[in-house]
Amino acid sequence: MPNRNLVQKQREVNEEAHLVEGLFLSGYSKSSLSKLKIVISGGGPVGLMLAISLNDLFKEYIDITIYEARWKAVDGRIFWKSKEDGNSRRQQVVTIQSRPFSLLPRDLQAALMQAGICSEIWPYSEDSPKLIGRPKSFHIKDLEDHLLDYALKTDIKLIPQTFTIDKPTVALYDILAICEGSHSPTRKTLKDKFGEGDQTPYSINGKQVVDTVLGLQVKSRIKSAAAVFLTIIQNRYLLNVDQQGFGYLNLRLTAAEAEQWENRTGAIPAELLKHIQQGLKLFDILPADMKSIHSFKLSMVHRNRFSTQLNQSGKQKPQFAFLLGDAANALHFWPGRGLSQGILSALSLAHCLLDRWRPDKAFREADFSKHEGIMHMLQHRHKTRAWYAMTKSIDDQLYPIQELITNSHLTQPNDKAVLIDALMERCFNLRKNLADRLAEKCALTSLYRKLRMLEVETLQMLVGGGQWETQLSGGPEIRLNDFYVSKPPLIPFQKPRLATHICG
Ligand SMILES: Cc1cc2nc3c(=O)[nH]c(=O)nc-3n(C[C@H](O)[C@H](O)[C@H](O)COP(=O)(O)OP(=O)(O)OC[C@H]3O[C@@H](n4cnc5c(N)ncnc54)[C@H](O)[C@@H]3O)c2cc1C
Repeated sequence: MPNRNLVQKQREVNEEAHLVEGLFLSGYSKSSLSKLKIVISGGGPVGLMLAISLNDLFKEYIDITIYEARWKAVDGRIFWKSKEDGNSRRQQVVTIQSRPFSLLPRDLQAALMQAGICSEIWPYSEDSPKLIGRPKSFHIKDLEDHLLDYALKTDIKLIPQTFTIDKPTVALYDILAICEGSHSPTRKTLKDKFGEGDQTPYSINGKQVVDTVLGLQVKSRIKSAAAVFLTIIQNRYLLNVDQQGFGYLNLRLTAAEAEQWENRTGAIPAELLKHIQQGLKLFDILPADMKSIHSFKLSMVHRNRFSTQLNQSGKQKPQFAFLLGDAANALHFWPGRGLSQGILSALSLAHCLLDRWRPDKAFREADFSKHEGIMHMLQHRHKTRAWYAMTKSIDDQLYPIQELITNSHLTQPNDKAVLIDALMERCFNLRKNLADRLAEKCALTSLYRKLRMLEVETLQMLVGGGQWETQLSGGPEIRLNDFYVSKPPLIPFQKPRLATHICG
């Protein structure tokens, strides 16, 4: 039985030999080859990571242009627009699972790790195994700054403009990658091609589940292991901060609170302020260390397709468009997988292109079947997980978590000791589950002290809203290595002519 790795290695060596031989035999020079032309709309983390990965995989056989509306050019150099330019940079902490992170180009990984902007707070998991390392948390602003700096050192063409889809622009390219985030305008323009999102699978009794979350920009003094425990044992508050404690405390609102927030005039409504203060207490945040408040509306839709042919096949060269990152699959951010699935979507397209591209051949729809399939797998895996962060099943009946929080004063006892016991039991079970998976140990007594500081109404909400469904939402992850093997781009080669045998 031949060794599978050796066979693979040999195949790669042969392909490289063909590459060299092909260039030699057919008299191609690199400059005379027709390059793959890609335009990326949106220079957020997914658009930039796609551009950098394609540049790394295809080397000089690619021409990449990327448009970003939040960039500006000053003296010929590209920068992020600032507050004065009408752009408020995003400060939230995003956590990338280590397996998707490890598939990014090595130099990019090294640059991000050496920049001193990465924290490791969250536990090992199926997608962040011990062998590779803990999940990597970044402030999205730092990540975008370093990705842009990295891209500036390459041949990627950076255009500080809003991309608009028109025939002359698109005709210049083979591929349009839409990385415009969850409100993608180009996806809307192309709705006849991609179809519209279907709310049905993420609705209860015909009503789409929509969470309103307040994001409080804070500095927390709590130890990171205690923060992980207190976040996972309930569904009302979520803390995601860096190693120094800077980041966001998120508060999931009830429908009535969301209405109060939307109709507020100036100050934070008193009732809501009380719940914000309880969250600050739980996560060791001084009131003076709360800097700003943003609100997010979170809901999900099912998408029918992620790739499309833009023009009819005929005499003209076919062009294809792809939805990636949040433009493809915007997730509820509670379980924190949005960017991880965005990276996998971008890398899947990059590797699919690498597998199927030939400079002398146009793409056909079938070339992208594998990528389209992987996009559906990513959608299924991550929206299933996120749905567990939006709803909870009780006695065979499904409820939005925000509704369980609303009704907790009716469903939960009024006894502080009983409520704390229920939460401590969750901590105890979680400790067994998290054993050796966190960087720090966590004393249960410190958690008990924190819970004791809370009011009965808050404790009722923490118990009534349930905890993270880590068991039900866990399980196998989508691994790109199962589908793609990296190899150099194949240049068409002519089979070497067999040497003439002279028979004696
Ligand atoms: C509070 C919060 C917490 C989160 N926490 C996590 C987490 O812990 N882990 C995680 O993995 N994910 C998390 N996410 C999700 C993560 O932030 C997103 O998945 C990620 O930012 C998606 O990247 P993207 O590049 O697809 O889209 P975006 O980040 O939205 O970037 C899209 C870019 O496209 C640009 N653009 C749009 N239209 C055009 C156009 N027509 N022309 C030019 N440019 C255009 C925009 O200006 C923007 O820069 C969180 C999100 C939020 C809001």
